[in-house]
Amino acid sequence: MTTPKRTAQATNESLHRIFTVAEAPDSTLGRIEQEISHSLSDFLNNYIVASKNALSDIEQDFVSARIPEQPEFVSDHMHHLLDKLVAHSVHTASPSFIGHMTSALPAFILPLSKLMVGLNQNLVKVETSKAFTPLERQVLGMMHNLVYQENDDFYQQWLHNPNNSLGAFCSGGTVANITALWVARNKLLKADGNFPGITRAGLFNALQHYGYQGLVILVSERGHYSLQKSADVLGIGQDSVIAIPTDEYNKIDCQKLAHKCQQLTDKNIKVLAIVGVAGTTETGNIDPLNKMADIAEQYQCHFHVDAAWGGATLLSNKHRYLLNGIERADSVTIDAHKQMYVPMGAGVVLFKDPSAVADIEHHAEYILRKGSKDLGSHSLEGSRSGMAMLVYASLHIISRPGYEMLINRAITKAKYFADIINHHENFELITEPELCLLTYRYVPKTVQTVLAKACVNRDSKTRNELNLLLGQLTKFIQKRQREDGRSFVSRTRIEVSRYGGEKVIVFRVVLANPLTSKVILNDILAEQCLLAQESELYLPQLLALSS
Ligand SMILES: *Cc1c(COP(=O)(O)O)cnc(C)c1O
Repeated sequence: MTTPKRTAQATNESLHRIFTVAEAPDSTLGRIEQEISHSLSDFLNNYIVASKNALSDIEQDFVSARIPEQPEFVSDHMHHLLDKLVAHSVHTASPSFIGHMTSALPAFILPLSKLMVGLNQNLVKVETSKAFTPLERQVLGMMHNLVYQENDDFYQQWLHNPNNSLGAFCSGGTVANITALWVARNKLLKADGNFPGITRAGLFNALQHYGYQGLVILVSERGHYSLQKSADVLGIGQDSVIAIPTDEYNKIDCQKLAHKCQQLTDKNIKVLAIVGVAGTTETGNIDPLNKMADIAEQYQCHFHVDAAWGGATLLSNKHRYLLNGIERADSVTIDAHKQMYVPMGAGVVLFKDPSAVADIEHHAEYILRKGSKDLGSHSLEGSRSGMAMLVYASLHIISRPGYEMLINRAITKAKYFADIINHHENFELITEPELCLLTYRYVPKTVQTVLAKACVNRDSKTRNELNLLLGQLTKFIQKRQREDGRSFVSRTRIEVSRYGGEKVIVFRVVLANPLTSKVILNDILAEQCLLAQESELYLPQLLALSS
């Protein structure tokens, strides 16, 4: 049977067909669909070209702001998309793409996502989601259980309770962090006597009523930039996020944290929240959460844990202990779209106390009526997709032991990579992997010797000079490697205590893809050695300085 060809005219009939008739299997879109369902990775390998086109060249294909007046055939448009867009997208699912937290997805996700999109449920209210609402509440319960491990009675009582919430689904860690701090802010500045609370009176009046000179958020210097965004949105300003120094393991210095709390209290500035990071974005380290919880208790402030990336580690019985103390947090952020292999758009924020959300409750006449089970009354976002279904399915299909295996293997692999970096004479490991994230750089052996000597002799001028050149070389190698398109690591700039806190440019690796093999890791180092030789500027200078 053949499907009638779309007519490239916006007629009644053609518009009706767009909503009712599927593409024929032999059409371009039909073929793509078949290829994708047969093997997504083959499709991506075939269609994403490792082009060296600069973004500014690619931009030339996306310069017109005109809305088309002429409809296109679906097939014609598909060719356009494949050529101009898909070909120049990034192969995040490639096993040699080890630079970011975005990685491959399990094969079952693709048909499930199609179903999710097709159902087009809107979780803002029961009227547009029905069974999806209890499903999402159940998934929030599972994630809450992962962190807080309350007993069955607790979950029976709270799971479907309309006026309370164990957490909220969000588009990602950023919105999850904003939501957590929003709850903390509104709880701190709640209604009191004649004062109607910050929700109605605003920040200025609330601070006056409570007599605070200001509000601040305390987090280690490795905290994620979404906290600055949160402070901005919540009206306390980005400068109110105070970065506390870290120790040599990139963990917050609790003595300095406690000292800062006391200083602020003396000045009548209220600590809105202490934020612990469980898996920093740059180095993958976990703050001492128990000690932080003690300090938060002592100063009576909200304790939030940003476990956007590292939270999934709780699924591993072997490594769960690394996050000990997280169960004392008032709120926790976890991104299912990072280490839980769910597509983007799957963040959650969880609340220890199910009544915490009362302070951000919003109602409207036509939806979100008081006492309804509408999830929209306790979330920052309005319309939201049925993403909870993908988390639900993944938790069932992979199950906790499956996730444990994925997480344990990723950590083992990171330790292996650290090992071969340590044993390679021309590389320097900068941060040891605590989870599956590490940083390192290329440093020729002779340079290593001179650098070490400069450190011993406290010769900060030579050290500085070498580190600057090494930074340029790292940047050069990273860019070249990205352009060549065989593999990808990211880069960042971090303070390194062995270099007197000097900021150093490093390669950053996240071993998220289960298909990344030891061979690939060895190849990546070999490729970087070759690329270093191509640097006609920095490598000779470095070697000259070290001869
Ligand atoms: C990724 C990340 C975030 C932000 O999450 P998005 O999903 O990108 O919004 C926040 N905090 C940490 C520690 C992260 O790793």
